[in-house]
Amino acid sequence: MADRVLVTGGAGYVGAHACKALARAGYLPVVFDNLSNGWAEAVKWGPLVRGDLMDRPDIDAALAEHRPVAVMHFAALSLVGESVKDPALYWRVNVGGALNLLESCSAAGVKNFVFSSTCATYGDQDGVLLTEDTPQRPINAYGGSKLAIEQMLRDFGVAHGINHVIFRYFNVAGADPDGEIGEQHRPETHLIPLMLDAVAGKRPALTVFGTDYPTPDGTCLRDYVHVADLAGAHVLGLRRLLDGRGNGVFCLGTGRGFSVREVIEASRAVTNREVPVVMGERRPGDAAALVSSSTRAVAELGWEPQHSSLRQMIGDAWAWAQKPGFSA
Ligand code: UDP
Repeated sequence: MADRVLVTGGAGYVGAHACKALARAGYLPVVFDNLSNGWAEAVKWGPLVRGDLMDRPDIDAALAEHRPVAVMHFAALSLVGESVKDPALYWRVNVGGALNLLESCSAAGVKNFVFSSTCATYGDQDGVLLTEDTPQRPINAYGGSKLAIEQMLRDFGVAHGINHVIFRYFNVAGADPDGEIGEQHRPETHLIPLMLDAVAGKRPALTVFGTDYPTPDGTCLRDYVHVADLAGAHVLGLRRLLDGRGNGVFCLGTGRGFSVREVIEASRAVTNREVPVVMGERRPGDAAALVSSSTRAVAELGWEPQHSSLRQMIGDAWAWAQKPGFSA
Protein backbone atom coordinates (compact mmCIF):
# COMPACT_ATOMS: atom_id res chain seq x y z
CA MET A 1 0.00 0.00 0.00
CA ALA A 2 1.26 3.44 -0.92
CA ASP A 3 2.20 5.81 1.89
CA ARG A 4 -0.41 8.52 2.28
CA VAL A 5 0.27 12.23 2.40
CA LEU A 6 -2.44 14.62 3.60
CA VAL A 7 -2.46 17.57 1.21
CA THR A 8 -4.37 20.56 2.54
CA GLY A 9 -5.48 22.78 -0.31
CA GLY A 10 -4.87 19.91 -2.72
CA ALA A 11 -7.80 21.04 -4.88
CA GLY A 12 -6.10 24.38 -5.51
CA TYR A 13 -3.58 25.42 -8.12
CA VAL A 14 -0.27 24.50 -6.49
CA GLY A 15 -1.69 21.75 -4.29
CA ALA A 16 -3.22 19.86 -7.23
CA HIS A 17 0.08 19.91 -9.13
CA ALA A 18 1.81 18.61 -5.99
CA CYS A 19 -0.72 15.76 -5.81
CA LYS A 20 0.15 14.75 -9.36
CA ALA A 21 3.86 14.80 -8.51
CA LEU A 22 3.25 12.78 -5.33
CA ALA A 23 1.25 10.14 -7.20
CA ARG A 24 4.00 9.87 -9.81
CA ALA A 25 6.51 9.34 -7.02
CA GLY A 26 4.43 6.48 -5.57
CA TYR A 27 2.52 8.21 -2.75
CA LEU A 28 -1.23 8.45 -2.31
CA PRO A 29 -2.23 12.10 -1.90
CA VAL A 30 -5.29 12.55 0.31
CA VAL A 31 -6.69 15.99 -0.36
CA PHE A 32 -8.16 17.98 2.53
CA ASP A 33 -9.93 21.02 1.13
CA ASN A 34 -13.04 23.10 1.81
CA LEU A 35 -13.31 23.93 -1.91
CA SER A 36 -13.56 27.65 -1.15
CA ASN A 37 -10.81 28.31 -3.68
CA GLY A 38 -10.18 24.84 -5.08
CA TRP A 39 -11.97 22.57 -7.53
CA ALA A 40 -13.24 19.04 -6.96
CA GLU A 41 -12.35 18.30 -10.59
CA ALA A 42 -8.69 19.05 -9.86
CA VAL A 43 -8.56 16.15 -7.38
CA LYS A 44 -7.54 13.27 -9.63
CA TRP A 45 -4.85 11.31 -7.84
CA GLY A 46 -6.45 10.26 -4.56
CA PRO A 47 -9.47 10.82 -2.31
CA LEU A 48 -10.98 14.20 -1.49
CA VAL A 49 -11.88 14.89 2.13
CA ARG A 50 -14.10 17.96 2.27
CA GLY A 51 -13.14 19.67 5.48
CA ASP A 52 -12.19 22.99 6.96
CA LEU A 53 -8.99 23.86 8.81
CA MET A 54 -11.00 26.15 11.07
CA ASP A 55 -12.79 23.04 12.31
CA ARG A 56 -10.34 20.95 14.35
CA PRO A 57 -12.57 17.80 14.47
CA ASP A 58 -12.53 17.70 10.63
CA ILE A 59 -8.73 17.52 10.70
CA ASP A 60 -8.60 15.00 13.54
CA ALA A 61 -10.99 12.73 11.65
CA ALA A 62 -8.97 12.93 8.42
CA LEU A 63 -5.69 12.13 10.22
CA ALA A 64 -7.31 9.24 12.13
CA GLU A 65 -8.80 7.74 8.98
CA HIS A 66 -5.82 8.09 6.64
CA ARG A 67 -2.81 7.95 9.00
CA PRO A 68 -0.54 9.93 6.66
CA VAL A 69 3.26 9.76 6.84
CA ALA A 70 3.33 13.52 6.30
CA VAL A 71 1.22 16.62 5.82
CA MET A 72 1.73 19.09 2.98
CA HIS A 73 0.07 22.33 3.90
CA PHE A 74 -1.01 24.47 0.93
CA ALA A 75 -4.45 25.64 2.07
CA ALA A 76 -4.39 29.39 2.67
CA LEU A 77 -5.65 32.71 1.51
CA SER A 78 -2.95 34.12 -0.75
CA LEU A 79 -3.91 37.46 -2.27
CA VAL A 80 -1.64 40.34 -1.34
CA GLY A 81 -4.17 43.07 -2.19
CA GLU A 82 -7.00 41.39 -0.27
CA SER A 83 -4.72 40.93 2.74
CA VAL A 84 -3.99 44.66 2.82
CA LYS A 85 -7.70 45.47 2.82
CA ASP A 86 -8.75 42.76 5.28
CA PRO A 87 -5.80 41.74 7.48
CA ALA A 88 -8.01 40.12 10.13
CA LEU A 89 -9.20 37.58 7.58
CA TYR A 90 -5.62 36.57 6.81
CA TRP A 91 -4.53 36.31 10.43
CA ARG A 92 -7.65 34.35 11.34
CA VAL A 93 -7.74 31.91 8.45
CA ASN A 94 -4.06 31.39 7.67
CA VAL A 95 -2.64 31.43 11.19
CA GLY A 96 -5.71 29.94 12.89
CA GLY A 97 -5.96 27.16 10.29
CA ALA A 98 -2.28 26.28 10.56
CA LEU A 99 -2.47 26.26 14.36
CA ASN A 100 -5.39 23.81 14.30
CA LEU A 101 -3.54 21.65 11.81
CA LEU A 102 -0.33 21.58 13.84
CA GLU A 103 -2.18 20.82 17.07
CA SER A 104 -3.98 18.01 15.31
CA CYS A 105 -0.69 16.67 13.91
CA SER A 106 0.86 16.72 17.39
CA ALA A 107 -2.09 14.83 18.84
CA ALA A 108 -2.08 12.26 16.02
CA GLY A 109 1.70 11.78 16.04
CA VAL A 110 2.28 13.08 12.48
CA LYS A 111 5.94 14.07 12.48
CA ASN A 112 6.60 15.39 8.98
CA PHE A 113 5.28 18.70 7.69
CA VAL A 114 5.94 20.44 4.38
CA PHE A 115 4.80 24.06 4.36
CA SER A 116 4.05 26.51 1.54
CA SER A 117 5.55 29.80 2.55
CA THR A 118 6.21 32.76 0.32
CA CYS A 119 8.60 35.41 -0.89
CA ALA A 120 6.03 37.87 0.51
CA THR A 121 7.61 37.19 3.93
CA TYR A 122 10.62 39.25 2.77
CA GLY A 123 8.83 42.53 2.05
CA ASP A 124 10.61 45.22 0.04
CA GLN A 125 14.37 44.62 0.03
CA ASP A 126 15.85 47.04 -2.47
CA GLY A 127 16.34 44.60 -5.30
CA VAL A 128 18.76 42.26 -3.53
CA LEU A 129 18.81 38.59 -4.52
CA LEU A 130 16.85 36.98 -1.70
CA THR A 131 18.23 33.93 0.05
CA GLU A 132 17.01 31.82 2.93
CA ASP A 133 19.14 33.97 5.24
CA THR A 134 17.78 37.35 4.14
CA PRO A 135 15.93 38.97 7.07
CA GLN A 136 12.17 38.70 6.64
CA ARG A 137 10.22 41.96 6.89
CA PRO A 138 6.75 41.43 5.43
CA ILE A 139 4.83 44.49 4.21
CA ASN A 140 1.38 42.92 3.99
CA ALA A 141 -0.78 40.63 6.12
CA TYR A 142 -0.40 37.74 3.69
CA GLY A 143 3.38 37.74 4.17
CA GLY A 144 2.97 38.39 7.90
CA SER A 145 0.64 35.45 8.36
CA LYS A 146 2.98 33.08 6.52
CA LEU A 147 5.98 34.26 8.54
CA ALA A 148 4.03 33.61 11.75
CA ILE A 149 3.39 30.04 10.61
CA GLU A 150 7.10 29.54 9.89
CA GLN A 151 7.79 30.51 13.49
CA MET A 152 4.98 28.30 14.74
CA LEU A 153 6.57 25.35 12.92
CA ARG A 154 9.89 25.93 14.65
CA ASP A 155 8.14 26.04 18.03
CA PHE A 156 6.16 22.86 17.34
CA GLY A 157 9.37 21.19 16.17
CA VAL A 158 11.05 21.89 19.49
CA ALA A 159 8.05 20.99 21.63
CA HIS A 160 6.50 18.09 19.72
CA GLY A 161 9.19 16.78 17.38
CA ILE A 162 7.40 17.76 14.17
CA ASN A 163 10.03 18.03 11.44
CA HIS A 164 9.48 20.60 8.74
CA VAL A 165 10.49 21.67 5.30
CA ILE A 166 9.51 25.24 4.49
CA PHE A 167 9.36 26.34 0.86
CA ARG A 168 9.30 30.05 0.13
CA TYR A 169 7.70 30.31 -3.27
CA PHE A 170 8.35 33.06 -5.68
CA ASN A 171 5.76 33.62 -8.45
CA VAL A 172 4.18 30.35 -9.45
CA ALA A 173 3.12 30.20 -13.09
CA GLY A 174 2.23 27.86 -15.93
CA ALA A 175 0.12 24.73 -15.96
CA ASP A 176 0.59 20.99 -16.02
CA PRO A 177 2.62 20.30 -19.21
CA ASP A 178 0.22 17.37 -19.95
CA GLY A 179 -2.74 19.73 -19.74
CA GLU A 180 -4.58 17.81 -17.00
CA ILE A 181 -4.78 20.72 -14.55
CA GLY A 182 -3.97 24.41 -14.54
CA GLU A 183 -4.42 27.75 -12.85
CA GLN A 184 -7.98 28.87 -12.17
CA HIS A 185 -8.93 31.20 -9.34
CA ARG A 186 -12.19 32.83 -8.49
CA PRO A 187 -11.80 35.73 -8.82
CA GLU A 188 -8.60 35.69 -10.88
CA THR A 189 -6.03 38.24 -9.72
CA HIS A 190 -2.74 36.88 -11.09
CA LEU A 191 -0.77 38.48 -13.86
CA ILE A 192 -0.35 35.67 -16.38
CA PRO A 193 -3.93 34.31 -16.42
CA LEU A 194 -5.36 37.85 -16.50
CA MET A 195 -3.02 38.75 -19.34
CA LEU A 196 -4.00 35.65 -21.31
CA ASP A 197 -7.70 36.37 -20.72
CA ALA A 198 -7.11 39.81 -22.23
CA VAL A 199 -5.28 38.22 -25.18
CA ALA A 200 -8.22 35.84 -25.71
CA GLY A 201 -10.73 38.71 -25.54
CA LYS A 202 -12.31 37.43 -22.31
CA ARG A 203 -11.36 40.73 -20.62
CA PRO A 204 -11.01 44.13 -22.21
CA ALA A 205 -7.40 44.70 -21.12
CA LEU A 206 -4.67 43.93 -18.62
CA THR A 207 -4.00 46.76 -16.19
CA VAL A 208 -0.31 47.14 -15.36
CA PHE A 209 -0.10 47.96 -11.66
CA GLY A 210 2.45 50.76 -11.45
CA THR A 211 5.06 52.04 -13.89
CA ASP A 212 7.08 54.16 -11.45
CA TYR A 213 8.87 51.47 -9.45
CA PRO A 214 12.65 51.75 -9.01
CA THR A 215 13.25 48.97 -11.54
CA PRO A 216 14.83 49.14 -15.02
CA ASP A 217 11.50 49.66 -16.84
CA GLY A 218 9.43 50.99 -13.93
CA THR A 219 7.27 47.87 -13.53
CA CYS A 220 7.60 45.25 -10.79
CA LEU A 221 10.16 42.47 -11.08
CA ARG A 222 9.11 38.96 -10.11
CA ASP A 223 10.84 35.58 -10.24
CA TYR A 224 8.45 33.21 -12.04
CA VAL A 225 8.73 29.48 -11.44
CA HIS A 226 6.80 26.75 -13.25
CA VAL A 227 4.19 25.04 -11.09
CA ALA A 228 5.43 21.58 -12.19
CA ASP A 229 8.96 22.43 -11.02
CA LEU A 230 7.56 23.68 -7.74
CA ALA A 231 5.54 20.48 -7.31
CA GLY A 232 8.69 18.42 -7.93
CA ALA A 233 10.49 20.29 -5.16
CA HIS A 234 7.76 19.22 -2.72
CA VAL A 235 8.43 15.56 -3.40
CA LEU A 236 12.14 16.17 -2.79
CA GLY A 237 11.31 17.96 0.46
CA LEU A 238 9.09 15.11 1.58
CA ARG A 239 11.83 12.56 0.86
CA ARG A 240 14.26 14.64 2.87
CA LEU A 241 11.95 14.43 5.88
CA LEU A 242 11.12 10.75 5.46
CA ASP A 243 14.84 9.94 5.14
CA GLY A 244 15.48 11.75 8.43
CA ARG A 245 17.69 14.42 6.86
CA GLY A 246 16.20 17.11 9.09
CA ASN A 247 14.44 20.42 8.85
CA GLY A 248 15.06 22.78 5.97
CA VAL A 249 14.06 26.14 4.52
CA PHE A 250 14.31 26.60 0.77
CA CYS A 251 13.62 29.44 -1.62
CA LEU A 252 12.04 28.25 -4.84
CA GLY A 253 12.72 30.68 -7.64
CA THR A 254 15.01 30.73 -10.64
CA GLY A 255 17.35 33.58 -9.74
CA ARG A 256 16.07 35.68 -12.65
CA GLY A 257 13.47 38.43 -12.37
CA PHE A 258 11.14 39.53 -15.16
CA SER A 259 9.28 42.81 -15.22
CA VAL A 260 5.57 43.04 -15.97
CA ARG A 261 6.51 44.57 -19.33
CA GLU A 262 8.84 41.65 -20.11
CA VAL A 263 6.08 39.16 -19.30
CA ILE A 264 3.80 41.01 -21.71
CA GLU A 265 6.50 40.93 -24.41
CA ALA A 266 7.00 37.19 -23.90
CA SER A 267 3.27 36.64 -24.22
CA ARG A 268 3.28 38.38 -27.61
CA ALA A 269 6.03 36.03 -28.76
CA VAL A 270 4.28 32.89 -27.48
CA THR A 271 0.70 33.62 -28.55
CA ASN A 272 1.45 35.70 -31.65
CA ARG A 273 -1.24 38.08 -30.49
CA GLU A 274 -1.27 41.57 -29.04
CA VAL A 275 -1.93 42.06 -25.32
CA PRO A 276 -4.43 44.88 -24.74
CA VAL A 277 -2.84 46.85 -21.90
CA VAL A 278 -3.69 49.91 -19.84
CA MET A 279 -1.22 51.50 -17.44
CA GLY A 280 -2.58 51.85 -13.90
CA GLU A 281 -1.69 52.77 -10.35
CA ARG A 282 0.44 50.70 -8.02
CA ARG A 283 -1.38 47.92 -6.15
CA PRO A 284 -1.05 48.41 -2.37
CA GLY A 285 1.25 45.85 -0.76
CA ASP A 286 3.36 45.09 -3.85
CA ALA A 287 7.15 45.05 -3.43
CA ALA A 288 9.18 46.47 -6.31
CA ALA A 289 11.29 43.35 -6.83
CA LEU A 290 11.21 39.80 -5.46
CA VAL A 291 13.91 37.61 -6.94
CA SER A 292 15.43 34.56 -5.30
CA SER A 293 18.54 32.51 -5.32
CA SER A 294 17.63 28.83 -5.48
CA THR A 295 21.20 27.72 -4.75
CA ARG A 296 20.26 25.89 -1.56
CA ALA A 297 17.37 23.93 -3.09
CA VAL A 298 19.62 22.87 -5.96
CA ALA A 299 22.53 21.92 -3.70
CA GLU A 300 20.68 20.27 -0.81
CA LEU A 301 17.57 18.82 -2.46
CA GLY A 302 18.93 18.20 -5.95
CA TRP A 303 16.15 20.40 -7.35
CA GLU A 304 16.45 20.91 -11.10
CA PRO A 305 13.82 23.24 -12.50
CA GLN A 306 13.14 22.02 -16.03
CA HIS A 307 10.10 23.94 -17.17
CA SER A 308 10.69 27.43 -15.80
CA SER A 309 11.57 29.37 -18.94
CA LEU A 310 9.14 32.27 -19.33
CA ARG A 311 8.28 30.90 -22.76
CA GLN A 312 7.20 27.50 -21.41
CA MET A 313 5.32 28.95 -18.44
CA ILE A 314 3.29 31.23 -20.69
CA GLY A 315 2.96 28.49 -23.34
CA ASP A 316 1.56 25.95 -20.85
CA ALA A 317 -0.73 28.58 -19.31
CA TRP A 318 -1.93 29.51 -22.81
CA ALA A 319 -2.64 25.84 -23.67
CA TRP A 320 -4.63 25.53 -20.43
CA ALA A 321 -6.50 28.76 -21.16
CA GLN A 322 -7.79 27.22 -24.41
CA LYS A 323 -9.47 24.42 -22.44
CA PRO A 324 -12.91 24.59 -20.83
CA GLY A 325 -11.43 24.69 -17.29
CA PHE A 326 -12.95 23.37 -14.08
CA SER A 327 -16.60 23.83 -13.34
CA ALA A 328 -16.85 22.08 -9.97
N1 UDP B 1 0.15 42.65 -11.87
C1 UDP B 1 -0.28 43.61 -12.77
N2 UDP B 1 -1.58 43.56 -13.19
C2 UDP B 1 -2.47 42.60 -12.78
C3 UDP B 1 -2.01 41.62 -11.87
C4 UDP B 1 -0.69 41.68 -11.43
O1 UDP B 1 0.47 44.50 -13.18
O2 UDP B 1 -3.64 42.63 -13.19
C5 UDP B 1 1.54 42.69 -11.39
C6 UDP B 1 1.66 42.82 -9.88
O3 UDP B 1 1.70 44.17 -9.49
C7 UDP B 1 2.97 42.09 -9.62
C8 UDP B 1 3.05 41.04 -10.72
O4 UDP B 1 2.14 41.47 -11.73
O5 UDP B 1 4.05 42.96 -9.77
C9 UDP B 1 2.66 39.66 -10.26
O6 UDP B 1 1.43 39.77 -9.57
P1 UDP B 1 0.56 38.49 -9.18
O7 UDP B 1 -0.72 38.98 -8.60
O8 UDP B 1 0.48 37.56 -10.35
O9 UDP B 1 1.45 37.74 -8.08
P2 UDP B 1 2.04 38.26 -6.68
O10 UDP B 1 3.36 38.90 -7.00
O11 UDP B 1 1.06 39.20 -6.06
O12 UDP B 1 2.19 37.00 -5.90
